[in-house]
Amino acid sequence: MPHYTGSLPSRLPRVGTTIFTVMSRLATETGALNLSQGFPDFTSPPGLFDLVSKHMHAGQNQYAPMAGAIPLREAIARKVEALYGARYDPEHEITVTAGGTQAIFTAVACAVRPGDEVVLLEPAYDSYAPAVELCGGTPVRARLAFPGYRPDWAEVKRLVTPRTRMIIVNTPHNPTGTAWEPSDLEALAALTRGTGVLVVADEVYEHILFDGRRHQSCAGHAELRDRSFVLSSFGKTFHVTGWKVGYVLAPRELSLEFRKAHQFIVFTVNTPVQLGLAEWLAEPERYLGLSAFYQAKRDLFREGLRASRLELLPCQGTYFQLASYARITDEPDTALAERWTREIGVASIPVSVFYETPRQDRVLRFCFAKNDDTLKRACERLAGV
Ligand code: GLN
Repeated sequence: MPHYTGSLPSRLPRVGTTIFTVMSRLATETGALNLSQGFPDFTSPPGLFDLVSKHMHAGQNQYAPMAGAIPLREAIARKVEALYGARYDPEHEITVTAGGTQAIFTAVACAVRPGDEVVLLEPAYDSYAPAVELCGGTPVRARLAFPGYRPDWAEVKRLVTPRTRMIIVNTPHNPTGTAWEPSDLEALAALTRGTGVLVVADEVYEHILFDGRRHQSCAGHAELRDRSFVLSSFGKTFHVTGWKVGYVLAPRELSLEFRKAHQFIVFTVNTPVQLGLAEWLAEPERYLGLSAFYQAKRDLFREGLRASRLELLPCQGTYFQLASYARITDEPDTALAERWTREIGVASIPVSVFYETPRQDRVLRFCFAKNDDTLKRACERLAGV
């Protein structure tokens, strides 16, 4: 007999367990190589752990300031200014969050009211729409069309109405691996000009861009900066996704509202990790080297799949490679991702789950943030399909 006998009408009736949890669990159960959920199977240099441990042993184990440890906010300000020429005041305009997902949720929670519309570009990371819905807002979807997945700014513009509170954008883009050009920033600036529309810019893969591309940050655009919450993640940058530490840049008035919500959602983020990260950031090579590091993995993975019947889509950034399996089977991607996990021992993410109404473009997402040996074994298994 359950103890709770009332009925709880779901706030998220159409949402199940996130695909990342589902596929990682299946990979663990079946012993498959896990190229599904995006996380590295290798470690950070021990120096980072030594720094965190040093602060822990030195007694830095009580609450950090609500908006984040000051040395970390200062280090973030230096990094962002050096990379994007954008000045953010660590005191009032930078807030340390418990990872990217909390940053997104908090930005939505502090701004979106019942009746507001929020424009998303689909395929969209799976937390965006539920965050909007939990706040009583209505997600409105623009299309990133297969196979190029480029934003159609004319469509986005058509979807902006007087009810639009916010647009959530993401570059480099998960799951497609596409990245913006400067013209995308210009288009977004043009269509929001003169409106009260806010921007949430999910830039957690800002340091993973290939073939000489430069990251197009909303922080570095003089106009967009003023209306944007720009977020990033140390988990992605320093191979520590389980630490759940990220940050949000936003102009003072927006940061003030962000912090009003943040203080009651997480209050603050664990102290020794923040202090360790602050010191680790002092050496820019530690994040500037990430593109070359992952480009080698991307190339290894793509090369290894040349013999397979998968068709690889371009990958401009992130640590995700999309592959079409249209030449192999017309099974739905969710069924195929599960079958390949069980039968060939490689777990991936079906791209249809990133749409409100699942579409069958017959595309799977593979995470290549893995040891070269893991990637080679995965390629051998996939080559036979
Ligand atoms: N961002 C990661 C991915 O896309 C997953 C994060 C999570 O599991 N919540 O795979």
